[in-house]
Amino acid sequence: MNIRSVKKHIERLDKEYLWHPFTQMKEWAGEEPVIITEGRGSFVRDISGRWYIDGVSSIWVTVHGHRKKEIDAAIKEQIDRISHSTLLGLTHPPAALLAGMLVKITPEGLCRVFFSDNGSTAVEIGLKMAFQYWQLRGDRRRTKFLSLSNAYHGDTIGAVSVGGIALFHEIFSPLLFRTYRAPSPYCYRCELGGRYPSCRLLCLEKTEEILKRHHEEIAALIIEPVVQGAAGMITSPPGYLKGVRRLCSKYKVLMIADEVATGFGRTGRMFACEHEGVSPDILCLAKGITGGYLPLAATLTTEKIYRAFLGRYEDLKTFFHGHTYTGNQLACASAIANLRLFRKERTLQKMQGKIALLKKELERISELPHVGDVRQAGFMVGIEIVKNRETREPYPLKEKTAWRICGRAREKGLLIRPLGNVVVLMPPLGISRRELKILSGITAEAVREVTG
Ligand SMILES: *Cc1c(COP(=O)(O)O)cnc(C)c1O
Repeated sequence: MNIRSVKKHIERLDKEYLWHPFTQMKEWAGEEPVIITEGRGSFVRDISGRWYIDGVSSIWVTVHGHRKKEIDAAIKEQIDRISHSTLLGLTHPPAALLAGMLVKITPEGLCRVFFSDNGSTAVEIGLKMAFQYWQLRGDRRRTKFLSLSNAYHGDTIGAVSVGGIALFHEIFSPLLFRTYRAPSPYCYRCELGGRYPSCRLLCLEKTEEILKRHHEEIAALIIEPVVQGAAGMITSPPGYLKGVRRLCSKYKVLMIADEVATGFGRTGRMFACEHEGVSPDILCLAKGITGGYLPLAATLTTEKIYRAFLGRYEDLKTFFHGHTYTGNQLACASAIANLRLFRKERTLQKMQGKIALLKKELERISELPHVGDVRQAGFMVGIEIVKNRETREPYPLKEKTAWRICGRAREKGLLIRPLGNVVVLMPPLGISRRELKILSGITAEAVREVTG
């Protein structure tokens, strides 16, 4: 069979049988799909042989690049021993080794690792741990959560309950548990009408008001540190995260940091919490943990929380939670190789110059007439497109401006995806300076052409 007929065959099967995530399938049916068959470094190749820069790291997961020799080898080696065994009543070297490595590199105080297999489950586990912790402590009233508007913590019902993106979440509202909602630190469109820095972090003040009134019934506050990713790369102002930590300690509310997106170097530090020297009580990790190879997640917690669950079997203090593929051997082996590469390749050190380069490129983009706001935290970038720069009026949803920009970028060899009116750039950490320039060059062209 030649390439053209293979391509047609895959497209037919896809359109007949597949249902894609976050996709209006009626539109999908009318489009020609890009069929990815290969990857290398910062690039992916489609079935026709066309190469694209993977400008969003295959949705925020690729770290050192595709087909990274050391990770490939680690997985192959592991396959030759065993691919999976359970952590229920048994253990295995990759899970134990990885747990030790994670405790070493995560913020101080986190010392126990509970594995699962995706970001949403890492969050569910964090929420359930926090809830059960207070029940076990005899503080039975602490059954509620405090989360932020514009938050995204995953798509399962618990994670959606603490989520704050109406576009995704509103329809499910009858299914969700009620949570308290703190304002989002979204300076460009401050819901409190503040202006940073003269506001002196009014959003923190409002958060404190909620805590002052309700802390006795709040088990935990959950937050995406430094960047609210899925809401459009909303970066929080300096001092905000530290302020949140201070409030949690003051009102004895547990702090859950969801670093599913920001973890593993994305923001230029290994974990975003490090930017403000913050240690959460519970930390959720997934996406980049395996370098973008396999599904794996981890929820870390402190000795204090862990100890509350200890007792005799009949005390029923056990954390009754687990997923079948928890701590899968192949996934843990790839995560170990991923972490070793950070040291071997000095990934974080090398990133600093590239972050500065990207910042300079973005300054040029921010001058374009329909770019309202450009937000960057390391390799997490959001370019907010507006109809009117003066009034900050957004484009109407149905014009799909950011979508069309990403479509234009694709024609030029760059794969990116928008979030609402925000064009997202999230290159693999291993991207070269040259590739980074091409990526921003194409982005600028696409923005100019579509909005010009
Ligand atoms: C992606 C994401 C999740 C959900 O992870 P999945 O693996 O898609 O379930 C949770 N929290 C944050 C901050 C995320 O970016």
